[in-house]
Amino acid sequence: MTPTNTAAEAPALFTLTTGPVNCYPEVLSALGKPVLYDYDPTFMAFYEKVMRKVGSALGVKDTPIILQGEPVLGLEAAAHSLVAPDDTVLNLASGVYGAGYGEWLKPRAGSFHEIRTVYNDAIDPADVDAFLTAHPETALVAVCHHDTPSGTINPIKEIGQIVRKHGALYVVDSVSAWAGVEVDVEACCIDVLVTGPNKCLGCPPALSILTVSERAWAKMEANPAAPRASILSILDWKDAWKATEGFPFTPSVSEIYGLEAGIDLYLKEGPQNVWARHAKTAAAMRAGVKALGLELWAAREEIASPTCTTIKLPEGVDETVLRNTMKEKYGVMISSGRAETFNKLVRVGHMGPTAHPIYTVLTLTALAGALSEITGKDFDLGGAIVAANAVIAA
Ligand SMILES: *Cc1c(COP(=O)(O)O)cnc(C)c1O
Repeated sequence: MTPTNTAAEAPALFTLTTGPVNCYPEVLSALGKPVLYDYDPTFMAFYEKVMRKVGSALGVKDTPIILQGEPVLGLEAAAHSLVAPDDTVLNLASGVYGAGYGEWLKPRAGSFHEIRTVYNDAIDPADVDAFLTAHPETALVAVCHHDTPSGTINPIKEIGQIVRKHGALYVVDSVSAWAGVEVDVEACCIDVLVTGPNKCLGCPPALSILTVSERAWAKMEANPAAPRASILSILDWKDAWKATEGFPFTPSVSEIYGLEAGIDLYLKEGPQNVWARHAKTAAAMRAGVKALGLELWAAREEIASPTCTTIKLPEGVDETVLRNTMKEKYGVMISSGRAETFNKLVRVGHMGPTAHPIYTVLTLTALAGALSEITGKDFDLGGAIVAANAVIAA
């Protein structure tokens, strides 16, 4: 047979991206189960069972909400549902996603404010405290937990306690951190957490998962602008988890099977162990990157994400050339930057099945090999692997 795939067309052997990520094999096989009619009582009971499991994985007492679209739907829906026309809102932006959230808040708010940092740093809780002291009327504060295009983590607990003290509602985008990093919804005083199964839970992109506090339900119910009979409605799904209630529209049946498999794996491994696996993988990667003589993007290592490592591009290296060389020569696919971080960095995901330290050895090999080819310089791959291994062994 004549080969039909060029190197560029062939899929990567290893997808070590920051989302979507390779799914767990158990998730893939669950996705292939027969599609039940959503009003088959068997499916309705199954949906309730899965929702309770999701609630226990999230550590919340109220049953969470699933919206039937990848997490951007949940994020947009939260902005539409919570923000009333005369509200003062504060958006916290330390990266592309955080700033992007402001674009949904701004047109709906009476008064919109933002605290920004440079995109390799994190929000300072003291700035939030100062703002809320000066603007006690603030109804809502939004933050991105792990701003993925920067690979940096915001202090969501410290910020949340300040927000609660001032009486505002608190919305957190934890799409790319939850299930890879501890997120204690209660202790962080989160009113609406938006996440999804397509990052650290190792499922495909298709669903949004939201926790909603009693205060947040009350706010939505009192908000004349909150969507109803709409794909953006959170309120429509409030009771849909109960086997005795109907669905506003057909849920993504197969994706719910996949979600259950992802949640089961997470609970069986034990959330603490899952978080430790993510943290160790990222620590090994950072050690290897530094030993190669490359620089981390994050201003400080304490704010570098356990679910993604961002690496500054060396002078004169084009990100597309680097990533394509890594893919075509080594079979390793990593992520680019986005918007303001595009062509300034590359990103290696440690999410779900790829949050295993041995993948760092693979990635460092591809990275050093591609960089040597592009720049004609030597990179100390041996030293990098030794450094990563030291973290793995510790
Ligand atoms: C992945 C991700 C989302 C979902 O958005 P996509 O751009 O569609 O992948 C939202 N927020 C954050 C922080 C994410 O990492």
